[in-house]
Amino acid sequence: MHTNIQSKLPQVGTTIFTVMSALASAHNAINLGQGFPDFPMNNALIDLVAQAMKNGNNQYVHMCGLPLLRERIAEKVNLLYKSSVSPDTDITITPGGTYAIYTALTTILQPGDEVILFEPAYDSYIPNIEINGAIPVPISLQFPDYSIDWAVVKEKVNKKTKAIIINTPHNPTGSVLSDNDINQLRSIVKDTGIFIISDEVYEHLIFDNKVHCSMLRYPDLLERSFVCFSFGKVYHCTGWKLGYCIAPEKLMKEFRKVHQFNCFTCNGPSQYALAAFLEDKEPYLQLGSFLQQKRDYFKQNMSQTKFIPLPSFGSYFQLYSYANISEENENDFAVRLTKEAGVATIPVAAFYKNPVDNKVLRFCFAKKEATLDEAANRLIQYLG
Ligand code: PMP
Ligand code: GLN
Repeated sequence: MHTNIQSKLPQVGTTIFTVMSALASAHNAINLGQGFPDFPMNNALIDLVAQAMKNGNNQYVHMCGLPLLRERIAEKVNLLYKSSVSPDTDITITPGGTYAIYTALTTILQPGDEVILFEPAYDSYIPNIEINGAIPVPISLQFPDYSIDWAVVKEKVNKKTKAIIINTPHNPTGSVLSDNDINQLRSIVKDTGIFIISDEVYEHLIFDNKVHCSMLRYPDLLERSFVCFSFGKVYHCTGWKLGYCIAPEKLMKEFRKVHQFNCFTCNGPSQYALAAFLEDKEPYLQLGSFLQQKRDYFKQNMSQTKFIPLPSFGSYFQLYSYANISEENENDFAVRLTKEAGVATIPVAAFYKNPVDNKVLRFCFAKKEATLDEAANRLIQYLG
């Protein structure tokens, strides 16, 4: 008998994050590629998980997430965005933000539907669309500020458009949506059945006094939105893979139908811990300034190199142009820097369906100062 899988994702290889992390480790390079902090998470939160386990909270929690954690999230959303969401009907705890996005897309998509997204785009979006038999409609953000050309969006919207994916603060560029973007989005989706998938995993990582334009702030947009978050990004514990989705009851009801037969429920002890820890607002309220300092520290170090920074107003990431350093394409240059300079980054071309070559690399600055120092020193030494 021949077993033969007809691939659901024939064009997909291994994600760039895994590829570059493996290369970094093979060459003992400093890993500024994959986005994760190298500084420790809060010890009190670790103790709370241990405590939850010792208290015997080791069995399945509610399918939609620990009720107390959902209550705490609803309180936080009310505080930050003046939005009233129901912990019972509008919030579901998920194993990370990526899963929340996948589940939202799987909930709404039928074969042949079109989904508009903006490139460079987080690399899970397109496979998530295609695995559902739907069609990705990528629109390039405008280089070099990576803003959205809303006239192009208007052109691309048609009867088959089922959803628009937005991501603010944006991975990989660090751009953030403005009030004007929100108004443009509003005028495009008004009187249509278009859903919004809003990837807000970097909600707190926003700099220079910018305000996070969460879909949770706008009732007319929220009514058609699945808003996705990640605890990993808030509490420096990406390995926990825990997040949540917020959507109006009618949408969330269908989301939960998909969720219940995929993951059913997420890790319990960490939900007990997060429910207790969320009462303290300080850790998430100071995140923006904490990461802004890291961005500025890294930029200061990198100013001794020939790399040219592009603006970053949020996320973990800073883009650098190397146009005046090398003619190589992004992938070749990123591989060479990893192997020979000992610094791993991500080629931004990896975030496009049809690669473009703007000669830009993504650096993750969510690292200890010593790591950022060493990375810049290695680049200075290697490139002169
Ligand atoms: N969206 C974006 C843009 C991200 O960078 C990440 C981080 N990996 C996620 C979603 C999801 O994060 P996680 O699944 O690790 O919670
Ligand atoms: N979000 C992180 C990044 O963009 C890593 C995600 C992953 O490895 N899947 O680098």
